[in-house]
Amino acid sequence: MDTPEVDELQPPDRTMMGPGPSEVHPRVLRAMATPLVGHLDPAFVEIMDEVQELLRYVFRTDNQWTLPVSGTGSAAMETAIGNLVEPGDGVLLRTNGYWGDRMAQMAERAGGEVVSLPTDANEPIPVADVERAFAEADIDVVGVCHADTTTGIRQPNVAELTEIAHEHDAYVILDCVTSLGGVPVEVDEWGVDVAYSAAQKCLSCPPGVSPLTVSDRGMEKVLGRETDPRSWYLDLSLLEGYWGEERAYHHTAPITNTYALREALRIAAEEGIEARWARHERVAGDLVDGFADLGLSMNPPAGLSLASLNAVEVPEGVDDGAVIDHLREEYGIIVASGLGGLDGDIWRIGCMGYGAREKNVTYVLEAFADALAAQGYAPAERATPL
Ligand code: PLP
Repeated sequence: MDTPEVDELQPPDRTMMGPGPSEVHPRVLRAMATPLVGHLDPAFVEIMDEVQELLRYVFRTDNQWTLPVSGTGSAAMETAIGNLVEPGDGVLLRTNGYWGDRMAQMAERAGGEVVSLPTDANEPIPVADVERAFAEADIDVVGVCHADTTTGIRQPNVAELTEIAHEHDAYVILDCVTSLGGVPVEVDEWGVDVAYSAAQKCLSCPPGVSPLTVSDRGMEKVLGRETDPRSWYLDLSLLEGYWGEERAYHHTAPITNTYALREALRIAAEEGIEARWARHERVAGDLVDGFADLGLSMNPPAGLSLASLNAVEVPEGVDDGAVIDHLREEYGIIVASGLGGLDGDIWRIGCMGYGAREKNVTYVLEAFADALAAQGYAPAERATPL
């Protein structure tokens, strides 16, 4: 067999404005180039404590059970569902949404019985739908996506949904993958039982470790299970041995990714979480306004938009894929097309973490104007901004 000859790694220079991964902060990249210590080294144990403290800060929680899961957002999602859902539990989800469908697949693998919400895939879940579902079925766990990366819609009423669930002794799992660190998330104030996220969105960190937080009440259910969760790797009662008091070996933590997350969270804390939310809101507002000047409209109804993920409608006669290619080839800008039911109907433009800067907004808008003109598109009347 010939020895493979592979050139030195030289990825192209991209402006990452898609649904994730987002542009990684240079400080985070530098942190990743620092020497490794072992996963049980007292110095690393100190780093673990710091990461947990910083995670509590961005999640706005005092939850003791707050840790980064080794793996991407889906691993954190599976940790949440696989530990909280026991065989036979009723799990209420919006199965016609992309992320609700993924949650449903995981809930079924955990032995749960999925109850589907009838809510339109392109709308947030209304309180009435959840109340009706509780009146009609036995539900133990409710799964909600806070920031829908496919539609660009924000779930505005998490605290109300949690209240209904708690009135029925049920638990709420919140997907904050596209909101944590960019859009207000209030785990304690909203009474969320389990929330999880990912590193590669508004925290501007490479994918690989994913934030998770579990309330004491949620953890009581997890520790009181009659059967073990099906995954050994993601079993929270075992992970406690490593991330809890004992600090004993469970698996070899991804050291470099943990360094990266620590630095990303440190940057968030330096900026201040509220100031960070305000920056995302301001920068995304300018982006939306710029699209309105180009005669383009947004997918989310007024008041439900998501600063971190801007879903722009593709105008009649424009080929969404050709625009995406033009942005990448001529400008090095990465944006994405729609997923699932919205394929061909929207572009998804991230405004996340380090990428949420005025400079990027100006660049993206100029590039879009050029890409649209190349398609023969001429802006009509200015669309109404959100
Ligand atoms: N949940 C939401 C809302 C997401 O947007 C994503 C990924 O984009 C995930 C879960 C899954 O995360 P990952 O791709 O990091 O596994």
